Amino acid sequence: MSQAILTINAGSSSIKFALFPIVEKTLGDAAVIFGQIDGIGTPVAKLAAKNKEGEKIASNDLPTANPDHQKAFDYLLSWFTGEAADWKIIAVGHRVVHGGQLFSKPVRLEGHTLEELTDFIPLAPLHQPHNLAGIYAIQSLMPDVPQVGCFDTAFHRTQPDEAQIFGLPRAFTEEGVRRYGFHGLSYEYIARVLPEHSPRAEGRVVIAHLGNGASMAAMVKRKGVATTMGFTAVDGLVMGTRVGAIDPGVLLYLMENKGMNAREITTLLYKESGLLGVSGISQDMRTLLASDKPEAQEAVNLFCYRIAREIGSMAAAAGGLDALVFTGGIGENSAEIRRRVTLLSAWLGIRLDSEANERRHIRISAPESAVDVLVIPTNEEWMIAHHTRTLLDL
Ligand code: AMP
Repeated sequence: MSQAILTINAGSSSIKFALFPIVEKTLGDAAVIFGQIDGIGTPVAKLAAKNKEGEKIASNDLPTANPDHQKAFDYLLSWFTGEAADWKIIAVGHRVVHGGQLFSKPVRLEGHTLEELTDFIPLAPLHQPHNLAGIYAIQSLMPDVPQVGCFDTAFHRTQPDEAQIFGLPRAFTEEGVRRYGFHGLSYEYIARVLPEHSPRAEGRVVIAHLGNGASMAAMVKRKGVATTMGFTAVDGLVMGTRVGAIDPGVLLYLMENKGMNAREITTLLYKESGLLGVSGISQDMRTLLASDKPEAQEAVNLFCYRIAREIGSMAAAAGGLDALVFTGGIGENSAEIRRRVTLLSAWLGIRLDSEANERRHIRISAPESAVDVLVIPTNEEWMIAHHTRTLLDL
């Protein structure tokens, strides 16, 4: 039987999973099985999975309606017993959205650590409880298998203090009202592989992680110095359904003049805004790019404009710009968005090689460009498996 590490990314209604082989203490480059369970808490939850070759190996309805995380994990592990009978899961690595100020590295999930992670629920109420539900479910189903937590916030803990605090009275900062930043596993992965692709990797680099959730980070010598997300993952860029940076005065206006409460404002900012809210059509970038409606075009224009402005801000934090990396579903797949963003950033000396951009080469900048521009697919799952193997010395 071959050994493997299972990675888990548990969200509110979905669980993403991947199984990475370990052979002679070396982690495989690619998952042998990966997929997700969608529709947790709904009448029909589904498990879909693929093998290493990308072939579909499962598309099953779960046997119970409205399953919770525990039932979904129950099903996943029993499915693994049949489908992945050749693989022995020797450790489980979890994506955990919030590690607060306490965790700047991955950690073994046991004892008091779990209580400490529970303390961070108020900082990430939409994500942290589901991450914890996954950890507890695995603990009850596989009590002898060690688990490791890998934090989305950890990459950003190297930022200087001024990048991490708000202009609030100190007491708030001290109780943890700070800029934490997210998408850290994606940034860590890019920081790790960048030297293979750019001689400027140790310089001043801006990474644009553009997906349904979107953020940017600046790094120097491959350590984070600034990021666009803040206390929560709603700050920064305009996203699929999240608003991004907004004048706090708007929220006061909504409370005082529209009588909106915290729950209503949360729904507005997280679920009804961003590309979906501005276009009134879709949160999906492909749909918006294909539409000739002016509202769709305005949403795309706003998306690119905000990224271009933040590239300036990130470059200022890094003291200049040697390389710009695109990643995430939009960053990796949309030549049109990369074209528009880099055109708006031409003042930084950025010049694109149009053909390389269309063909999605890794390097898409023209030879005369002052900045290396790259497209690098991210791999948060691999990063989790790598941390898990390293921490447990497997
Ligand atoms: P992610 O959250 O990283 O999976 O990214 C999801 C986003 O990527 C969605 O908005 C998709 O519309 C977008 N996306 C995926 N493929 C393309 C593409 N070929 N062109 C434009 N957007 C894309």
